[in-house]
Amino acid sequence: MTTDHGYPAVRMHIAGEWCQGGSGRTAPVVDPATEETIGTVPLASAADLDRALDAAAEGFRVWRDTPVVRRTEILHTAAGLLAERAGEVGRIMTLEQGKPLAEATGEARRAADTLRWHADDARRAYGRIIPSAPGILLSVRREPIGPVAAFVPWNFPAGGPMRKISSALSAGCSLVLKASEETPATAMELVRCFADAGLPAGVLNLVFGEPAEVSARLIASPVTRLVAFTGSVPVGKLLAARAGEVMKPSLMELGGHAPVLVCADADPVQAARRSARAKFANAGQVCTSPSRFLVHESLAEEFTAAFVKAAEEVVVGDGLAEGTTMGPLANERRLRAMERLTADAVAHGAEVRTGGERLGRAGYFFAPTVLTDVPAQAAVLHEEPFGPLAPIVPFTGLDEALRTANALPYGLAAYAFTESAATAERLVRELEAGILSVNHCGGSVHEAPSGGVKDSGYGREGGPEALDAYLVTKRVSHLLGP
Ligand code: NAD
Repeated sequence: MTTDHGYPAVRMHIAGEWCQGGSGRTAPVVDPATEETIGTVPLASAADLDRALDAAAEGFRVWRDTPVVRRTEILHTAAGLLAERAGEVGRIMTLEQGKPLAEATGEARRAADTLRWHADDARRAYGRIIPSAPGILLSVRREPIGPVAAFVPWNFPAGGPMRKISSALSAGCSLVLKASEETPATAMELVRCFADAGLPAGVLNLVFGEPAEVSARLIASPVTRLVAFTGSVPVGKLLAARAGEVMKPSLMELGGHAPVLVCADADPVQAARRSARAKFANAGQVCTSPSRFLVHESLAEEFTAAFVKAAEEVVVGDGLAEGTTMGPLANERRLRAMERLTADAVAHGAEVRTGGERLGRAGYFFAPTVLTDVPAQAAVLHEEPFGPLAPIVPFTGLDEALRTANALPYGLAAYAFTESAATAERLVRELEAGILSVNHCGGSVHEAPSGGVKDSGYGREGGPEALDAYLVTKRVSHLLGP
């Protein structure tokens, strides 16, 4: 069933059933390109959440005891269904989130591949046998931690949920997933792939609701054993504190404010073009988005000119329109934040080299924006912009650039451009970040871990490390014989 806008009727998925829940409450879903309401999302009652928790407890027992080969088969079937449906999932994602259709479809395809990678990796979640005394079998096993309370935001409506779902299910855990109320249908379509693939009821439960109510209930419940969150630093700290009160581990993938260091020996035009492409992807709403451009003073003008050119080549428009390379911001909060951060920078003396304003009257479109002469106290240099703003700040010496780069409490991604191996090595060692790219702005890959240091969180998603949070280690000492 779809609305007039071609948007599906959103349902939660609890204990293997699609449902609207018992609260009678809903929230509107808005197309950020038009500001029109295109559908509604049901909000869970406390009783709905309790049913999801009971289902996850039962689902965990079933899934944990399902042979790993069978688990992998089901996950591969789900991945195949998602890959087949990527075009439709992408269309729904563009409607509710705004990103260009090609990016959205690509994200759905990549999410299918994420699932395949983790499903295969879980077959190698080996324990070990430890040398001991004769007659004693001393071993270490890695077991699924239990039902997971997972919370994911709206910027990657398929990729975000899939990182948590794929690791949890591959490890043998069940989940209660609260996806974003702003992009609920993409999450629903992902869950549908698992249901259609034969995932047992209760293993993957999907709920929506008032975020604070849902997280309080799911974290406090003795059923859940891990809290996995992607989102902002303040909310991450709140949820990590709640998890700590009930002695639960958590996995925190939080925000960042990624510095890009362009050293005196770098090619400024190439650095500008490569980092501009990364900056404006997903309209800058990426936790690893390059967001502070620290450029050696000798290259600053050349870099800025090339960056402005790249910004002006971005085609901003409705994500469903042919040729669009950047859609609207995903919600009105981001549009207002861009206006506020730009006005604040200008009030502090910054110059807007291109962009700097909303585009059109309807839809949350904001022009790709380049700011220069930005003083250190401007908010855009401290607060994660999470949008298409690029402040460029010249530096004189590398020590100063490193001090500026490391001065913020964030530590997610960092980027460096230099022709010198020795400078690159120094930056790799000294930049405080969990993810570093040299001479390009590398995106995340399934094979390698992503995650932060400092306020950007802890734990890793991606790579073999992704399973660590979802598995617990059990030491077993077995006396054989009398
Ligand atoms: P926000 O802090 O209100 O919410 C961030 C996410 O957390 C949303 O998905 C929201 O539904 C959820 N959330 C909020 N309160 C919650 C609670 N008490 N319990 C459980 N979940 C809760 O911010 P926002 O306006 O949605 O996004 C803006 C900021 O969030 C950005 O500036 C950025 O810093 C951050 N963000 C980061 C990521 C990321 O990938 N790390 C993704 C989206 C947003």
